[in-house]
Amino acid sequence: MRITALAGGVGGARFLRGLLHHLRASGADTPDLTVIANTGDDITLFGLRVSPDVDTLLYTLGGGVEESQGWGRATETTRVQGELAAYGVGPQWFTLGDLDVGTHIARSLWLGQGLSLSEVTARLAQRWGLPEQGVRLLPMSDSPVETHVVLTEDGEQRAVHFQEWWVRLRAGVPADRFVVAGLDRAGAAPGVLDAIRTADVVVLPPSNPVVSIGIILGVPGVRDALRGTTAPVVGVSPIVGGAPVRGHADACLAALGLPTTSAAVAGLYEDFLDGWLVDPQDAAVALPRARVRVHDEPLLMTDVAAAGRIAGTALTLAADLGR
Ligand code: GDP
Ligand code: CA
Repeated sequence: MRITALAGGVGGARFLRGLLHHLRASGADTPDLTVIANTGDDITLFGLRVSPDVDTLLYTLGGGVEESQGWGRATETTRVQGELAAYGVGPQWFTLGDLDVGTHIARSLWLGQGLSLSEVTARLAQRWGLPEQGVRLLPMSDSPVETHVVLTEDGEQRAVHFQEWWVRLRAGVPADRFVVAGLDRAGAAPGVLDAIRTADVVVLPPSNPVVSIGIILGVPGVRDALRGTTAPVVGVSPIVGGAPVRGHADACLAALGLPTTSAAVAGLYEDFLDGWLVDPQDAAVALPRARVRVHDEPLLMTDVAAAGRIAGTALTLAADLGR
């Protein structure tokens, strides 16, 4: 069974690790999973190209993530960043661990040698053992895409990089809107559109609907591929009990004028969504379109087994749907 998933960072990675766990536990053949990763969070820091969502996927699926925070390397130190601080070099609001810096140096070096982001990501994925697990990790695009946030502070509008809004400001200043530099010109990376068109199932993990999945959907051709695929498209709500489980999806939805509900998220996908998993707490909330089949299931990914159970339910829902 060919599974294609669109994913952001922590929510996407935890779900997909659960999906792999589920597939292995159910005794299926080696999984055939293509992950299309959001690269709209990418940023250049200290001259290094950082792809936060790709890195979270690499470390989580590769068994190297710091479990307590959901991103970064386990047993990490920040001596390099300390040295940069001693030189007065910033920014200091974005944590770059020492092992993590190795990833960014490798990525930047290979990009500088002329490799595409897809080729670089494939090399990084090799080191983390993703191909052996049946996982193909693709960036959504090989072109640089950067999400910026337009804010009003002291009566003046200014734009900051998404990471500055998310990490330094903790999304505490309301976003007027998102401006995604490079998105309208970004071609889908090799294999992305085919993976959606030829999948047996397309899954939307509980990733941020605006700044993770929403960005991938903005890559020209992706939304059309989702509308046109013969595979059932099944999503998992990132909103549980009317709130994000972690992060600031509420602030992102507010920028679009939407409430923080599972139904509002489904509404963003309604032109291609077939099945939608919601938590029992959100089951009473009506969906915008009756065509979407809703199933309720506890959606907290408290550990790998819980994420695996949720992923298994998503696959069962997809199998029931067909198209
Ligand atoms: P990011 O790029 O690291 O922010 O990660 P994603 O975009 O992949 O995922 C962020 C989303 O995951 C947030 O909107 C969270 O509400 C959601 N999320 C995190 N943990 C859970 C969980 O255990 N269950 C569900 N349903 N959603 C979760
Ligand atoms: Ca992200």
